[in-house]
Amino acid sequence: MNNTNTNDNYREVAIELGDCRCCQGCIDLNPDVFEWDDSLDMPYVTRSKVTEEEVRDIMNTCPEGCIVFVDE
Ligand code: SF4
Repeated sequence: MNNTNTNDNYREVAIELGDCRCCQGCIDLNPDVFEWDDSLDMPYVTRSKVTEEEVRDIMNTCPEGCIVFVDE
């Protein structure tokens, strides 16, 4: 498997919900990757295969650091 981390490689992203403060910042920044679950009142991942470039900003700005790659 090729594990070089270029922007062209798709990675598997997830939300560590235990730390989430429900600010909805991830949905604001990446509405095509994250959506809001109204019944759980939590965000969820709608498209787990993303490029690092797509989620770099939210990984750096999520106030609790909840956005993580789960394939490393
Ligand atoms: S940006 Fe982080 S803290 Fe805010 S809703 Fe998304 S995962 Fe939760």
